[in-house]
Amino acid sequence: MKVGIPKGLLYYKYHPFLQTFFSELGAEIITSTDTNKRVLDEGVKYCVDEACLPIKIFHGHVSLLKNKCDVIVIPRIMQIRSREYICPKFCGLPEMVLSSIPDMPQAIIEPIYASSEEELYDWAQKAGKTITKNRNVIKNAFHKAIDEQQKYKTGIKNENYNLNVALAGHPYNIYDEFINMNIVKKLNKLGVGVVTEEYMEDELIDSRVKTLYKRPFWTFARNTYGFTVESSLEKKVNGIIYISSFACGIDSVIVELIKDKIGDFPFMILKVDEHTGEAGLETRVEAFVDMLERSC
Ligand code: SF4
Repeated sequence: MKVGIPKGLLYYKYHPFLQTFFSELGAEIITSTDTNKRVLDEGVKYCVDEACLPIKIFHGHVSLLKNKCDVIVIPRIMQIRSREYICPKFCGLPEMVLSSIPDMPQAIIEPIYASSEEELYDWAQKAGKTITKNRNVIKNAFHKAIDEQQKYKTGIKNENYNLNVALAGHPYNIYDEFINMNIVKKLNKLGVGVVTEEYMEDELIDSRVKTLYKRPFWTFARNTYGFTVESSLEKKVNGIIYISSFACGIDSVIVELIKDKIGDFPFMILKVDEHTGEAGLETRVEAFVDMLERSC
């Protein structure tokens, strides 16, 4: 059986788990291509206009993958940390995709609660049934998938640059080079190093989040807030670049909370949508770097 895994949204963080799990069950894994203009065009064609860019791109990946596989995985990721949630668009992602794209193959859409291994195992037993009825095979595949995920490390930390910026935002905006138009390479070329939140200790992020009047509901917003505030107040970087999706409700809240805390620390928000042009983004990045150089 061919299992399709779209290269969109949290694929960038959790693909070792998904790929290992389904391949250990005996399936052949088919992934979509890296995001490109064709993927974007397909996404824009099928997705509702109001959705953010990463959701549109996910639709594009599904559309280009659907005829190459027998079953497609549409991860309905609900939770990865206790008492916190992922964006509501993830909760309704399967319904959005299945109602917009015609002639879809069978889809695996069980909700994923991953704040504990027990809960994730529950998902594995339900999702694995599509491939095999043997519970032991599913159990072994699950443990191998967990091992592979634990070996995998995301995050960027460039060394030996005189100027450094904290690059903040949702993982798909940071790691999908089509969405962010290769911003890391652009910054490196301008002599600026990049660091992302994965290189900050959880305790430091927690200590900043605890100062908020109310704890955030959303895991990625929480991480971004703690990372950017700690980086600026402790002067660990020279500036912050936040890649934000146009029409993202979570970003609109968290950006204001960050601005409120960091005062006049250099902070640039790059809003991305399907109309964002590379020349415009480059100009803004160059101007920001120029400003950082002058203020050093
Ligand atoms: S968090 Fe924002 S960018 Fe991510 S899927 Fe939700 S609305 Fe889109």
